[in-house]
Amino acid sequence: MPATLVTLHCVPSVSIALEDLSNAERSVALYVSDMPDRYRYRRGDDALLESWIIQGATLLGLERLYRLAALLSGYQLAWMEKCASTVQEQAHAQRFPKTARLDRAGRMASLVSLNTPMSEAARARGLRPQFDGGCPTCEGSGQVWERWIAPGCDWEEEGYQPCPMCPGPVNPVRCVAVAA
Ligand SMILES: [Zn+2]
Repeated sequence: MPATLVTLHCVPSVSIALEDLSNAERSVALYVSDMPDRYRYRRGDDALLESWIIQGATLLGLERLYRLAALLSGYQLAWMEKCASTVQEQAHAQRFPKTARLDRAGRMASLVSLNTPMSEAARARGLRPQFDGGCPTCEGSGQVWERWIAPGCDWEEEGYQPCPMCPGPVNPVRCVAVAA
């Protein structure tokens, strides 16, 4: 269990349901849980995986889990778009020093998510990534300047478009201090 992430504290006895956690939240919960580093999935292990997810979520507390998961999603998004900032790289490596474990946790979470429904609230949270140091694409403005050629036109148009990294009319992204 990575000591950097987990601080045992008084957790109010709120029961956490798997359905109420997004895929990224399930990944982070597994990462901090008792799941062995070299765990291999076997058929029928679903209840075991679920118990680890609930364990990890309880350890972190929901608020912290939500934030860590949103930052993880933001990092993964930026990584895929090849625009992760140095701030993001460093914060991510500090939060999740065991890359193989994070990878395994992510794959196991996806496996669980294949068979477990997800509440609307959890799904919606899963679509709201956060970025260390602000969105690397729009720097928090929620929009980017783009050029495009409209269908059937020969000329280019340009203007502000919603940021593809943090879409939405209200941009909730702000600089979040490293939680770990
Ligand atoms: Zn953005």
